[in-house]
Amino acid sequence: HELRTPLAAIRLYAQTLQLDRAANDEERRECVEAILRDTERLGQLVERVLEWRKIAEGRRPYQRRRDTVEPALREALDAFHGLLRAGEATLEVDLRATMPVEIDRAGITEAVLNLLVNAHKYTGETKVIVLRSRDVDRGVEIEVEDNGIGIPQAEQGRVFEPFRRVDERVRSQAAGVGLGLAIVKDVAQAHEGRVRLRSEPGRGSTFTLFLPGAPPAAEGEST
Ligand code: ADP
Repeated sequence: HELRTPLAAIRLYAQTLQLDRAANDEERRECVEAILRDTERLGQLVERVLEWRKIAEGRRPYQRRRDTVEPALREALDAFHGLLRAGEATLEVDLRATMPVEIDRAGITEAVLNLLVNAHKYTGETKVIVLRSRDVDRGVEIEVEDNGIGIPQAEQGRVFEPFRRVDERVRSQAAGVGLGLAIVKDVAQAHEGRVRLRSEPGRGSTFTLFLPGAPPAAEGEST
């Protein structure tokens, strides 16, 4: 469905142009813009499917270096701010983690950005999103909390499966193919970590990513 809809739309707009059915230049321009928009969207979907193939085959590259999680969280926040329209959501940020981990910065940035985007997508009018990090026993936790629609108990284990979406809400929600959380899980596993979900329908969801701390740096090794 996700792939067919934009494809069908592109065909329709292209045919309108081919048969010269647009009433005027304005309408022709609109057709071209719609085609560009839908090809862009298709391209993104195809990228994600290819990405999923990599995950499934264990070919997703991770390069881990000893660092705190803070730079990755800042990058995710920057990217998220770029997507947000002013005043659209209240974002609370509380970053306290200082323990170094063996981190693939790009991977953690992507995972946290996926969680932030979901918190935004699956939340109603007055969105309150919280990003936290903290040191815990043997590692750090990164948490994204929202006050959104929540996830029913029966679905909570399954939303991390690829292409899994909570069905009745698919149509009404923004675009997605159900890979965001599968990527989050893969990133967590690549760090020997894990992701936990607490959620109550109608109240919101909290996703917590645990990453184990790095072993103590060897003598002479830079940190
Ligand atoms: P996508 O958002 O592309 O559908 P994800 O893998 O990121 O894919 O999420 C899978 C499903 O889990 C979503 O379709 C949605 O139903 C549910 N979900 C994810 N994050 C949230 C959230 N913060 N609040 C409520 N539901 C969520």
